[in-house]
Amino acid sequence: MSSRVVVITGGSRGLGAGIVQAFLDAGDVVATCSRSATPRTDAWAADPATAERFLFAPVDIVDVAAAQAFVAQVLERFGRIDVLVNNAGIARDGVIGLASDEDIDTVLDLNLKATFTMTRLVARRMLLAGSGRIVNISSIVGLSGYRGLSVYSATKAGLDGFSRSLARELGARGITVNSVAPGYLRTEMSHGLDESQLQQIARRTPAGRLGEPEDIAGVVLFLCSPAASFMTGQTLVVDGGLTA
Ligand code: NAP
Repeated sequence: MSSRVVVITGGSRGLGAGIVQAFLDAGDVVATCSRSATPRTDAWAADPATAERFLFAPVDIVDVAAAQAFVAQVLERFGRIDVLVNNAGIARDGVIGLASDEDIDTVLDLNLKATFTMTRLVARRMLLAGSGRIVNISSIVGLSGYRGLSVYSATKAGLDGFSRSLARELGARGITVNSVAPGYLRTEMSHGLDESQLQQIARRTPAGRLGEPEDIAGVVLFLCSPAASFMTGQTLVVDGGLTA
């Protein structure tokens, strides 16, 4: 397969970095953004094996103009966008009665609104090209719920609905849209859970452990492969069997 141009939001660490690595390992061209660079983004930009086919931009995608400039920068450097992975997301813990307006806005603005913005900007190009793959990273808590994460869960359930509707809207134009709903991963996002909570989740998981970014990245890669060309509008749960 010739290399694709892949845009991944929030690829500086955690799951997003795992997805960047998987596409780079597959020989693809990867552009990613987050608010700050990290040693991993610096390494990809410096490594002769990836430097020519990797772009990192420090961008807050909640800022529509900045998101627009990032997409323009990717198009200017690489000429097209074949795959969009909407990965950047944020959680704010807390029972609903104590949720602040600021926390609610932060979670909605990134998880939903910025995903809509990025998708709108990239889908326009995919429509012109007559092909494309879009993957939205949701979460099992959007399906099963989690006490203290109601706002976050609502955004993740929203993303699954977004995938279904967009699949119907874009299917005839050669574009697939799917969600991947991970279980609990060992990333900075799960640092809010203490070690005993994490161990309890691992015990309740048939696979006997928490997920790693690679567990999820492989499924994202599959959804962007020719093998998945007839799959669209789906939510793939990747949780070691936790919600089975
Ligand atoms: P993470 O370690 O906190 O990483 C989040 C990434 O998004 C970082 O690269 C971060 O970089 C970037 N980001 C945050 N705000 C941004 C903004 N406004 N603009 C651009 N980039 C931004 O989280 P993660 O665990 O890898 O989660 C990745 C995705 O998986 C999220 O959608 C999350 O909801 C989902 N998920 C995670 C878990 C889990 O257990 N961890 C489970 C299910 C689903 P900066 O902070 O520098 O911007």
